[in-house]
Amino acid sequence: MMTSGTGTQDATVERAGELFLQNIQDGRRSGDAAAQPLRVLIVEDERALGMFLQKSMENEGHRVGWVGDGETAIEVVRAERPDLLVLDLSLPRRDGMEVLAELQEEVCSMAVLVLTGRSDVEERVRCLEMGADDCLLKPFSFYELAARCRALMRRRQAQVNPMLKCGGLAVNRMTRTVTMDGRVVALTGKEFSLLEFLLMRRGECVTRGELLEKVWQMSPTAGTNVVDVYINYLRRKLAGDNEGEDLIETVRGSGYRIQETNSVKTKAPKKPAARASEYLLRATAAAATGRQQSA
Ligand code: CA
Repeated sequence: MMTSGTGTQDATVERAGELFLQNIQDGRRSGDAAAQPLRVLIVEDERALGMFLQKSMENEGHRVGWVGDGETAIEVVRAERPDLLVLDLSLPRRDGMEVLAELQEEVCSMAVLVLTGRSDVEERVRCLEMGADDCLLKPFSFYELAARCRALMRRRQAQVNPMLKCGGLAVNRMTRTVTMDGRVVALTGKEFSLLEFLLMRRGECVTRGELLEKVWQMSPTAGTNVVDVYINYLRRKLAGDNEGEDLIETVRGSGYRIQETNSVKTKAPKKPAARASEYLLRATAAAATGRQQSA
């Protein structure tokens, strides 16, 4: 375990930092391809804010580390390579700008969100030029921070692995195109985001509240049926001319689920009308034979 070895952090911050580093390492070990929690490092010297961000992002399902100075941040980034770096600019032992300058090579492979208390446009432009993906001015709402982190990570994950596949469904997150059994399915932006979210969590039941929060950025308790309406749009577009089992399963009283690839039943092709009547004739004839034999 790395020690942060700083004279400016108090003991509590140091212990907290170590504990959270452990969380990051645990996250890497328990890697699961489909819905992998993000490994986040928060660099923030204000203890109350650091702890709040750490707790809140953990509640979002991520593994979160937190350190309180620039020098430790550089060491931890090099050792742990987090997916997302949330970096305050005003820090003891090398400020955020120096951290960005020092980590030029590493920042290319991670998403970086800079936090700043100064409304200095030039400074923010410099951060973006140095590899930061986004800047957020303090004070900020946690919802805004979380939404921006999600947007950053969606972009990052889409670059690394753009294809999401499930049965006959193929979704390209870079080009935002969808095909079902080779047929192009045209989706609106919201329909695409909903399908992408369900696919990222495939195998799990995703509640309406969670979809409202994560796809629509609405309160999970908002009294609206927008989720159900969009699920119906999606089902109709994905099914096309085919009839049969839905890719999107309704979990009664709870939400929706897309099954893991190997358990999705492929849809039976629609039987032509002429063939259907043939089957009906044969079935009727068989039933008649059965009746004659049993008589
Ligand atoms: Ca600060």
